[in-house]
Order: sequence, then structure tokens, then C-alpha cells
Amino acid sequence: MIDFELPPQVQQARDMLHMVAETMMRPIAREYDEREHEKPWDFLNAMWEASKATNPVSFGGGGKKEPGAPSVRNLQTVVSIEELSWGDAGLYLSIPNPGLGGAAVAAAGTPEQRERFLARFRSGPPKWGAMAITEPHCGSDTAAITTTAVRDGDHWVLNGTKIFVTSGKMAAQESDGFVVVWATVDKSAGRAGIKAFVVERGTPGMTVVKVEDKMGIRASDTAMIVFENCRIPLDNILGSPEVQRSTEGFKGAMATFDATRPAVAASAIGIGRAALDFVRAELEKHGIKIRYGVSRNKLTAIERDFMDMEATLQAARLLTWRAAWLMDQGRHNNLEASMAKAKAGLAVTQVTQKAVELLGPLGYSRKYLLEKWMRDAKINDIFEGTQQINLLVVARRILGYSSKELN
Ligand SMILES: Cc1cc2nc3c(=O)[nH]c(=O)nc-3n(C[C@H](O)[C@H](O)[C@H](O)COP(=O)(O)OP(=O)(O)OC[C@H]3O[C@@H](n4cnc5c(N)ncnc54)[C@H](O)[C@@H]3O)c2cc1C
Repeated sequence: MIDFELPPQVQQARDMLHMVAETMMRPIAREYDEREHEKPWDFLNAMWEASKATNPVSFGGGGKKEPGAPSVRNLQTVVSIEELSWGDAGLYLSIPNPGLGGAAVAAAGTPEQRERFLARFRSGPPKWGAMAITEPHCGSDTAAITTTAVRDGDHWVLNGTKIFVTSGKMAAQESDGFVVVWATVDKSAGRAGIKAFVVERGTPGMTVVKVEDKMGIRASDTAMIVFENCRIPLDNILGSPEVQRSTEGFKGAMATFDATRPAVAASAIGIGRAALDFVRAELEKHGIKIRYGVSRNKLTAIERDFMDMEATLQAARLLTWRAAWLMDQGRHNNLEASMAKAKAGLAVTQVTQKAVELLGPLGYSRKYLLEKWMRDAKINDIFEGTQQINLLVVARRILGYSSKELN
């Protein structure tokens, strides 16, 4: 039997978060778009109090299915993220949580490491996690990472520069958080030499040197972090320190994306839906109601455009739910996660641009949030693997090519 209904607990969470999005996020969305480097502490504290009582990794990443965990956890995560991003994607990204760093620990860490690094997210003051892969000269081509990790007695010593780290400032400097840093232990080994390391907040040698000024998601901090002789304990490496002459270790770290790409897709869909809802409401104010069930040749151009936008978002949503559902079943979702991310990233950029176009000056004016949603949309086509990189992953999976054969 195929059932596309959301389970009751997921619907309840969605309804509750929709209220949060409407009453707590929308009213401050413009303010924190304009005050890019300030934090909406009332909102962040409220979200922290609400989320730490539940599951700390339920926002921003999901992670592996735990034995006995409810089988809808990842589905609930993507549905929740869509709702919060409908409220405001930048504010959603700034909510204290383990974030991408937590997803990496969940995907590649041992049970002991998961407890050590994630338990703190259940109590105390707000905390953030982050993940630092991108460097000034490489983003998509992760094999070209030059940050090094050299073993020295009981420590690893990290050196290198990471850029565009989401929540990097909050994780590295402002809370009892951590940054998961990708570094090579053996440059000659290529991908096989790349490992993920957890660097605790405030570790000497880790310095936030810059916070970016951005086009969109401006409520979320994006930092440049320099590692200079940064010493961390040996057991802060996620996975095995062995450099096998295969890419097994690297694949473990890459598994992080199987959890985070559906989350990004869900955020994209939330932004797209916000734009679509706004267009619908504006059209209705002018007496234009979208007529469903009317044959296509009798529809107006606006109705056809609107329905195309709705359909593309719904297609992205179904792919996203499928990618999350597979994770809930403990099944491999690498192909589906990239499909969802590629489709949703493209859908949201197209939908928000079309929405601005349909409403003309109303869409372009800063009086409304639509122009902001168009700016917020684009990031979903860039981080967690660009559109092109996710399409490459899809092609490799379907055609059975390795990353060496198709790049
Ligand atoms: C707001 C923001 C937040 C971010 N957060 C994080 C974070 O938390 N952690 C982190 O590590 N990084 C983060 N990033 C970085 C982001 O992941 C990278 O920008 C992204 O991976 C692209 O890498 P790049 O910028 O080096 O571009 P490049 O890899 O140089 O790509 C440039 C263009 O070439 C295309 N391209 C590259 N390779 C291929 C190929 N083989 N085939 C076809 N086309 C190709 C790309 O799709 C892109 O269009 C963030 C970026 C932004 C803007």
C-alpha cells in the first residue's frame, strides 16, 4: 500500500511549527535581514528551550537511525524544516543546534563520540555545531583540501583556512559548541587521506577571522576560520585514523551529506512555499482565484504559471520526503538525497524569481518579504553541494560511474 499522508505526530509537529513560523519568525524576518550580524536572542532562547527537551539532532541534520527510535524521525525533521523556513530560512539556520557538525558526528562518529559531542545539546545555555570543509581555493572539489592534520604524540595539530562556515562564529567562539573540520592526514593519498576532526569551541589556534556579508539568509552567521597549530586530542578524529588506499574513510565523512541534503531541500521548499502563498494571497486580493480542475487551454497565463510553480515544489517535496523516509528505514539514500537537493534548489530559485516577476513592483519592493525570499532562495543551489555537483552524483549513481570516471 502507498500512503502519502503524514503520520499524526508529524502533522502535529508541523502545525505547531507553523504557528512558531507565523508568530515568532515572520514578524522579525525583515529586521534581522537588515541587522545581519546581530542575533534575535529572544527567538533563539525560546527555540533552544523548546528543542533541547526533545531530540537535539532533530533540527538540521537527522543522522543515523537509532535502534528503537521512531521510524519517522527524519521525515519529521524535513517537514519541520520546511515549516521553519516558510517562516524565515535565515532565522531557521541560526537556531542553536548541532547543525552540520552534529550530522557529521552522527554519520561518522563512534557511539562514544556521539555521546561526548552531542549530549551537551540537551542542557545548559544555547549551543551551536558547524562543519568546515570549504577552503579559499576549493569547495566542490573536496579532494583538493589542503588543511592538514599532523599527529604529534597524543594530539592532532591542524593548520589551514576554512571559509563560509555556517554558524561558524557561534560554534567556534560564542557557545559551548564545536566545529567539525575536514583535513588531510596524507596529501599523497587524495580522498583517502581526508578525515573529519572535532575542534571544541575556544581551542587555542582556532580563530574566527571574519563574518561574511551576504546576499541572503543574512540572519545566519557565515564565518572564515583559521587553524594555526591548533592541537586537539587524538580521539577527536571521526572514524579511523588509518589511511587506507581506498576511499572508505572519505565515504564515511561524505555520508554526512545523505542526511543534510534532504534538510537543505526541505528549507528550499519552505521558502518557495512562502513565495507561492504570498502570490496566491495577492492575486486573491485582486479577485483572481486559481481555478483547479479546468482544462489547461482555458486557464489564464497566470494560472498556468502558478500551477507550474506549485507542481515543481510538490515534486521537490515528494523527492525530499522519499530521501528522508529511506533514512528512517535505515536504507541507503545517497541518490535520493542528491536528487531532492538538486530538484529543490532549482525549484526554489525558479519559483521565487517567477513570483517576483508575476507581482512586479510588489515583488521587487522591500516593503514585502518576497524580494528577500528570492535572495534567500539561491543558497540552496550552492551549499551542501551545488546544483551541478548533485546532478553529477545522480548521474554517477544511475550510470554506475565512479567519481574518477565522471567528474
Ligand atoms: C552562505 C553559505 C554558507 C555555506 N556554509 C558552508 C558550511 O557550513 N561549511 C562548508 O564547508 N561550506 C559552506 N559553504 C560553501 C559551499 O559549500 C561552497 O561554496 C560550495 O560547495 C561550492 O564551492 P565553491 O564555492 O568552491 O565553488 P566551486 O567548487 O569553485 O564551483 C564554482 C562553480 O563551478 C561548478 N562546478 C564545480 N565543479 C564542477 C564539476 N565537476 N562539474 C560541473 N560544474 C562544476 C559549481 O557547481 C559552481 O557553479 C557555504 C557557502 C555559502 C555561500
